Amino acid sequence: MKEILLLKYGEVALKGLNKPAFESAMLKTVRRRLADIGEFRVYKAQSTIYVEPLEEKADLDAALCRVQRIFGFSAINRAAVCEKSLESICATAADYLGDRLRQGGSFKVSAKRSDKRFPLNSMEIGREVGAYLLVAFPGLRVSMADPEITVVVEVRDFAAYVHCGKLPAAGGMPTGTSGRAAVLISGGIDSPVAAYMMARRGLDLCGIHFMSPPYTSERALDKVVQLSSVVAGYTGNFALLCVPFTDIQLAIGKNCPEELFTVLMRRSMMRIATIIGRREHCGALITGESLAQVASQTLPAIACTDAAAGMPVLRPLIGMDKSEIVDISRRIGAFEISILPYEDCCTVFTPKHPKTRPRLEDVIKAEEAFDLPSLEAAAVEGTEVRMLHFFDEPWR
Ligand code: ATP
Ligand code: MG
Repeated sequence: MKEILLLKYGEVALKGLNKPAFESAMLKTVRRRLADIGEFRVYKAQSTIYVEPLEEKADLDAALCRVQRIFGFSAINRAAVCEKSLESICATAADYLGDRLRQGGSFKVSAKRSDKRFPLNSMEIGREVGAYLLVAFPGLRVSMADPEITVVVEVRDFAAYVHCGKLPAAGGMPTGTSGRAAVLISGGIDSPVAAYMMARRGLDLCGIHFMSPPYTSERALDKVVQLSSVVAGYTGNFALLCVPFTDIQLAIGKNCPEELFTVLMRRSMMRIATIIGRREHCGALITGESLAQVASQTLPAIACTDAAAGMPVLRPLIGMDKSEIVDISRRIGAFEISILPYEDCCTVFTPKHPKTRPRLEDVIKAEEAFDLPSLEAAAVEGTEVRMLHFFDEPWR
């Protein structure tokens, strides 16, 4: 029996004239992500991408794992393929889903006939297949309202497909179709979640990380690399740009009022990220800020930070509670890495009493007290790139 994956479009199905552009992005991504696990035929029809193994060693379990992290699909089915005849559909359903059906319980058959040349309509297919399975598996009983097992039959253009329902898909819009942005990624819980959320809306991402050696360790950087590879599991490739930030932090500490330290540091991050973002062809910056979470995330502090950015700053977590952020972090496999106890450059230098209502005039005046622009230019020049690939991802 031949198995196949059916990847069903999410919002992309609703696109009008632009739909082909989204589809070709999705096809390209699926082909690229499966390139090293065997030969598959990947093709599209009827708002679905088909993933068909072409050889024995093509690993469908691994393929499923991979495609569940590709954005743009609202549901995935792992299905048996059969001929478009009632006999073949009945025999395939009994054979493919036999282990489950033998256990008994309530069931229904849900049929969809998109090939209108097929002689039976959806209702009739459902009834016929249901009757066949009831005879073949005496432990079954019909429940249309609340079945334990739903046997799905899809009669499509190329063949008929039998499966027992939807597997989770990543949702969202295909990577890259919304452009590109740079996520400011720390070793915390929030920024990887912010990255995931904006990637899900179709942004291709690169990461910018500010590191402060020797105050921050190699292990702290390694944690950011690991978190970035979680993001790369969704976006494909991910360039992580590591900016040496120690000199700037020391200079701010030496020359400015302590209570303004955090806001000055964040503005400096924004200016540097803007320059790097432009070089990387990004149209926006992304942060993991959430309103009122810490002193630098009050409205006046955010206003000061925004004023230093030269491109839009997207803050997908701005209205979320920490517990909601943690839920997503766990779901995407970042949480266990985020809670490793390595220090971040922000925590190392945090003032005891940061100003929660900084005024932009005071902040700008403090910045003028020393030569911040040349320190920032040096930091940009000292930036190192690390490329991450979804292959690095632990659940590969
Ligand atoms: P996170 O959990 O993502 O570290 P946080 O709650 O600790 O966030 P802050 O430390 O105030 O919050 O940082 C807010 C945002 O600023 C982060 O979500 C991230 O986008 C960015 N940021 C903070 N520190 C760094 C860093 N060292 N490198 C890059 N971006 C950073
Ligand atoms: Mg942080």
